[in-house]
Amino acid sequence: MRILVIGSGGREHALVWKLAQSPQVTQMWCVPGNAGIGQERLAKNNEPVECINVAAEDLSKLLAFAREKKVDLTVVGPDNPLALGIVDLFQKHGLRIWGPNQKAAQFESSKVFSQGFMERHGIPTARAGTFEDAASAKKFAESLGGKCAVKADGLALGKGVLVCSNMREANQAIDEILVGKAFGAAGARIVIQEFLEGVEISLHALCDGKSAKLFPTSQDHKRALDGDGGLNTGGMGTYSPTPFLDQAQLAETGRRILEPWLKGCMAEDIDFRGILYPGIILTKNGPRVIEFNARFGDPETQVYLTRLENDLVELLDASVSGTLGGIELKWSPMASVCVVMASGGYPGCYAKGKAIVGLDEAAKLPNTKIFHAGTARAGDQIVTNGGRVLGVTSWAKDLKSAQTAAYAAVEKICFEGVQFRRDIAAKAF
Ligand code: AMP
Repeated sequence: MRILVIGSGGREHALVWKLAQSPQVTQMWCVPGNAGIGQERLAKNNEPVECINVAAEDLSKLLAFAREKKVDLTVVGPDNPLALGIVDLFQKHGLRIWGPNQKAAQFESSKVFSQGFMERHGIPTARAGTFEDAASAKKFAESLGGKCAVKADGLALGKGVLVCSNMREANQAIDEILVGKAFGAAGARIVIQEFLEGVEISLHALCDGKSAKLFPTSQDHKRALDGDGGLNTGGMGTYSPTPFLDQAQLAETGRRILEPWLKGCMAEDIDFRGILYPGIILTKNGPRVIEFNARFGDPETQVYLTRLENDLVELLDASVSGTLGGIELKWSPMASVCVVMASGGYPGCYAKGKAIVGLDEAAKLPNTKIFHAGTARAGDQIVTNGGRVLGVTSWAKDLKSAQTAAYAAVEKICFEGVQFRRDIAAKAF
């Protein structure tokens, strides 16, 4: 089987690493990939995974490549190509591709759509309103005492959500998006949600248009600094499982969200094949969905795929075919922890091209995998090439041991300006 993976982050490295273990895979490309992905080899024949320098949003070039190489299955990592309709385009040309089509990807590409869908189908969410004009938005924010999350409707590189704790901040956020057009057309409409208090967790469910298979829990660390200080980032680390929901509570949470979601999809003729990833806050009144993503989380994927025991090719194939129903997801009882090593200054400005040392040493540690994100090759060196650079991931019999192992690996790696959180998974203890 010939596989093409689209994307270049830590999530895509984890996908490539796991897919490469499948005995079904004989050839694999990643577009555009990164330095770590380019070092992976296939379990079946030891062939290298080839990185191809095409942008993940250049749909016509991706299509031409997949047709030329007779790719059997394309796996889409990031949200942008999904929102642009890559799945519809590939299917129109008779190519097999994994991920939601453009209509289904709206769960992530439009917060207005998602909020309306949750309200139409009784999915537990925050009290919310949708607005196009600043005056009525401010009136609604006032009814919440200014404690709210102001969200641009469309994709805004993960920066379109402004969390406010008073009316001054809420007014500013509303003006920034609706009047100042800080996110351009993505902010032509906004959703304002009441601010929810509680522990935030990530859920993932693999879907095939008819059914949804729930993953174990994981928790991301969105803020840049220890103790959840500093700016929001793409995610500074994850661990799985979390102690906040036991098996029965997870199943109940999944039921309360996924059952009405699946029924709603049927009712609105939405054929969702891919990963549904709801962001959830466990409030004192029960779980509430604050957003839906329509792809694997990054860095959630790194901890999930180091625990997944199934052949990922089989799972994604069943998700495309609509045959997930008969498959049981198997998870290792091991806990997994991923610590993101980022460039100094991230999520603001940062330098690129800093030499990374210690990767080989760290890779020798048992039950540890160094997933690359923003890395590139420069001669015989591997250098930084993005904000989030590495996702150092370790797994062990319990969370504490996995945390210790991940930080032991982090200690072996260095580049100028490196920053990382020292408290990944600490909330669990
Ligand atoms: P989102 O992209 O919608 O998940 O929002 C980004 C982050 O903002 C989330 O990870 C939460 O930490 C925070 N957030 C979003 N909506 C809410 C809400 N209604 N209440 C509290 N925090 C929120």
